[in-house]
Amino acid sequence: MNAPDGGKPEASRYYRLSRFFREKLGGPVYKIPLDAGFSCPNRDGSLGRGGCIYCHNPAFSPGGGGFDPPLPVAEQLRGGKKKQARGGARYLAYFQAYTNTYAPVARLKALYDEALRDPEVVGLSVSTRPDCVPDAVLGLLENYARSRHVWVEYGLQSAHDRTLARINRGHTFAQFREAVRRTRGRGIYICAHVILGLPGETEAMMLETMDRLNQCGLDGVKFHHLQVIKGTPLAEAYRAGKASVYESAAAYIPVLCDCLERLDPGITIHRLAASVTDPGLLIAPRWSESAGRLAAAVEAELARRGTRQGYQR
Ligand code: SF4
Repeated sequence: MNAPDGGKPEASRYYRLSRFFREKLGGPVYKIPLDAGFSCPNRDGSLGRGGCIYCHNPAFSPGGGGFDPPLPVAEQLRGGKKKQARGGARYLAYFQAYTNTYAPVARLKALYDEALRDPEVVGLSVSTRPDCVPDAVLGLLENYARSRHVWVEYGLQSAHDRTLARINRGHTFAQFREAVRRTRGRGIYICAHVILGLPGETEAMMLETMDRLNQCGLDGVKFHHLQVIKGTPLAEAYRAGKASVYESAAAYIPVLCDCLERLDPGITIHRLAASVTDPGLLIAPRWSESAGRLAAAVEAELARRGTRQGYQR
């Protein structure tokens, strides 16, 4: 269950998703992650094989990343709500695992409709790649957005093409910018995923990513710290000393705060750090903070500096 910003939105020094939901939807909304059985063009050979170097979906996805076959969407929603156990709550169906627009439009519509038939589901959040949103898919999401709350979450990770090539994303920053441009004006909220600490990236490069994101017209950013997952090419690079991670939350938080200071204060922060659903697959770093503790630490660091999101823009 996603409680990504972990805590009270009041007087926060960054723009929490909880505040955004309160402003747009009048109160709390919770995301229920789903695995709808999609694949990814960067894995199945249509674009590439092997995927992004850090990606092993079973480490991140609901149900350990890939029910085989996946449980029906409605059943996953029921299970997610039961875990959440909040009476009268409202939810977004979060199509999370792999590339959630990678199917014919009729198939996508059937899955999204199934989620939206649940009366407590007020909208969709659809995670995908910037090179996987043909106009027909954006048109479908635009139709939902007329009466529902709809997010598209684009995996980007870095605005530097050299890094994108190094991590085998299979797309460029220009493709991301173009996808965002084509998504805007349709009533769809747009979020970008960013990983801090990617191989070869300096902090100056991460801050430049913030600057470039500020120019794109985004509604949200989801931060992850680099995690090394078993069975990935990144794990091999890490063992060979060619990649490193933030070894502690104390090492990560200052960099995260630097990025927040650089980011437009109107951009909602969906998440402050990565998490894994299966800790047994995580090689490094081994620290994990609850969303609430991390949010408190970020607030404390920004307060210590006397800054806030957008302070250094
Ligand atoms: S695009 Fe997403 S699902 Fe596909 S390989 Fe990369 S991280 Fe994994």
